[in-house]
Amino acid sequence: MEFGIIACDGSSRARRGRMTTAHGVIETPVFMPVGTLGSVKSLTPDELEELGARIILGNTYHLYLRPGVERIHRLGGLHSFMHWNRSILTDSGGYQVFSLAGMRKLQEDGVLFQSHIDGSRHMISPEIAMQAQMWLGADIAMCFDECTPYPVTRQYAQESMQLTVRWAKRCKAAHHASQQALFGIVQGSVFADLRLACLEELMKIDFDGYALGSLSVGEPKEQMQAVLEALTETMPVSRPRYLMGVGTPEDLVEGVSHGVDMFDCVMPTRNARNGMLFTSWGSIQIKNSCYVDDDQPIAADCGCYTCRRFSRAYLRHLYMSRELLAYRLNTIHNLFYYLNLMQNMRTAIEENRFSEWRKSFYSQRRL
Ligand SMILES: [Zn+2]
Repeated sequence: MEFGIIACDGSSRARRGRMTTAHGVIETPVFMPVGTLGSVKSLTPDELEELGARIILGNTYHLYLRPGVERIHRLGGLHSFMHWNRSILTDSGGYQVFSLAGMRKLQEDGVLFQSHIDGSRHMISPEIAMQAQMWLGADIAMCFDECTPYPVTRQYAQESMQLTVRWAKRCKAAHHASQQALFGIVQGSVFADLRLACLEELMKIDFDGYALGSLSVGEPKEQMQAVLEALTETMPVSRPRYLMGVGTPEDLVEGVSHGVDMFDCVMPTRNARNGMLFTSWGSIQIKNSCYVDDDQPIAADCGCYTCRRFSRAYLRHLYMSRELLAYRLNTIHNLFYYLNLMQNMRTAIEENRFSEWRKSFYSQRRL
């Protein structure tokens, strides 16, 4: 994987970069739609590409349990299996093991857990997480880490961070796929000094990129900003920076202004299925009765397929009637909004007017 910076904003840390993987070029800062089970829910790969997605995220935990990563490998890897010819980043499975699986037991070697589907028992270790991601054939793999919950004591955060570093060394040793980049994950909860110590250790191991894990997990926004502030000053300039599982449009804008290059979040897709639609002035709930006779599009300034053709009244009707088309049209709109937001930020950085753009973004927010 290659990564380079094309432009930097003069009055913030925002940066405009370009990443090249075996499956094409990715302009950064970038948002990665989440394709948990080998599909971005309700959309075809062609529709995703049309929306401008150049990299999506696959969840190793889910694919490991169903249909099985070895099976996907035998069927030609995840790209071929789901017919997506652009880039894929897979997580290590850690987040889902800690948040979804039952009866998990954390030990030095790895985590014993029970499947959330059928209760079957499994073990995931740094070596297993690497093998699984090599079998999936992702362009970017993530280290297996302990996702530190919030809130925790400083001592817990420190021990958890140290375990993550020991696991990162094992991930690096077990990773042997020349076409696949490997990113390290910085842990340490809201303690900036622990985060910096973790980053320092990971940089000694030397990864292709560095991710910030366990943020936006319930901590106040100011604490997330403080961690970002401390870390992005120290992270190597020449490697991509990935803020995992984040977030709202405001979180993306703040992340970019701190110099983050990559984001993923279920928010645009999950919220679409719950009828919550993003616009430049805030989000709206399409089921609200005020839209029953509304012949306007979701957003007049949106160029997506849904807004070009359908009224709020029709979308409300589909949603209230639980028509399958509601999920598709809402998802198309929300992903268009997120991907277009990133495009606008990339252009603003290139034109050295990101801070101005950021001000106008906030001045439009009303909801
Ligand atoms: Zn739209």
